Amino acid sequence: MAEENVLQELEDALAKGLEDLKSVASEEALLAWRNQYLGKNTAITQAFQSLGKLSAEMRPQVGQAANRVKVALEAALAERSESIKESALAASIASEKLDVTLPGRPMTPGRLHPDTQMLRELYRVFGEMGFQVYRSREVETDEYNFQLLNFPVGHPARDMQDTYFVEAGERGDNPIVMRTHTSPGQVRSMREYAATNPENPPAIRLVLPGMCYRYEQTDARHETQFDQIEGIAVGEGITFSNLKATLSDLARRLFGQNVRTRFRASYFPFTEPSAEFDVECFLCGGKGCAVCGGGWLEIGGCGMVNPNVLRNGGYDPERYSGFAFGLGPQRIAMLRYGINDIRYFWENDLRFLEQF
Ligand SMILES: [Zn+2]
Repeated sequence: MAEENVLQELEDALAKGLEDLKSVASEEALLAWRNQYLGKNTAITQAFQSLGKLSAEMRPQVGQAANRVKVALEAALAERSESIKESALAASIASEKLDVTLPGRPMTPGRLHPDTQMLRELYRVFGEMGFQVYRSREVETDEYNFQLLNFPVGHPARDMQDTYFVEAGERGDNPIVMRTHTSPGQVRSMREYAATNPENPPAIRLVLPGMCYRYEQTDARHETQFDQIEGIAVGEGITFSNLKATLSDLARRLFGQNVRTRFRASYFPFTEPSAEFDVECFLCGGKGCAVCGGGWLEIGGCGMVNPNVLRNGGYDPERYSGFAFGLGPQRIAMLRYGINDIRYFWENDLRFLEQF
């Protein structure tokens, strides 16, 4: 008799559970329903617990019935849970409103990097003065980076340019390096032009822009990577006066018609004589300020191309002469915009880049 009751109770629990589930409409109610019909103290658990006391004939019947009811209730629970989630999502979508009066999200236009802007301005000015842009390689041999520019192996001036070596190994005194300056392009460009007519090499007037690399401790004035613009003019009868006129004209075109320039004697292995090139401070007009100190700003180095370098480039120094100079576009941009740390240029920080 008790055994009949167990089966009946299971059928009742199933029917009542399914009926109750119809009115369950929230996650909380679903949890309560689950505790009531699939929890610790239900018709199903009681049926399983009673199995040991049942006759061998009834035991499988009750066990199977309990399993069937449990599976049916669990399936109904899963289905109900899914439909509650779906209607919650639908309600949330329905409550969203499209407000066509809201202002649009602003689109920020891209812009050129301050260094690119500076370079393009320099290309324009040099273009007006008759210089063409010549691109030389960033990975160089020691021969081009140093030896052909009058820095023989072991030359003390090499210590001024701490070098990244790409490949040393078997190459002895001619390892592969990251160029430490744009000057190796002087010899590459001279050789290229001289090859077009070795007996009478053509006159050249070029600027050679590009990245240079030095193994340096970085600080506000030093980066391991920086731009240079090299200039070179080679021909017959070129003198130091042409160099001074070219750079003074450059300064006027960049900084204004009244700006003054100054040349101070210096030393570079690949030019002779050599000079540093200053312009009157365009921030204070030469009176002296926190940036310039004494009223002058250092812009670059220059000089007459050393006869050895001319010869290495295929130009006979008895017949040809030339001048060369090197400028730092980032240095000019720093002075012009009051940028006090060179490391800002390659940090890709939008707060910096959006100011230009
Ligand atoms: Zn100043």
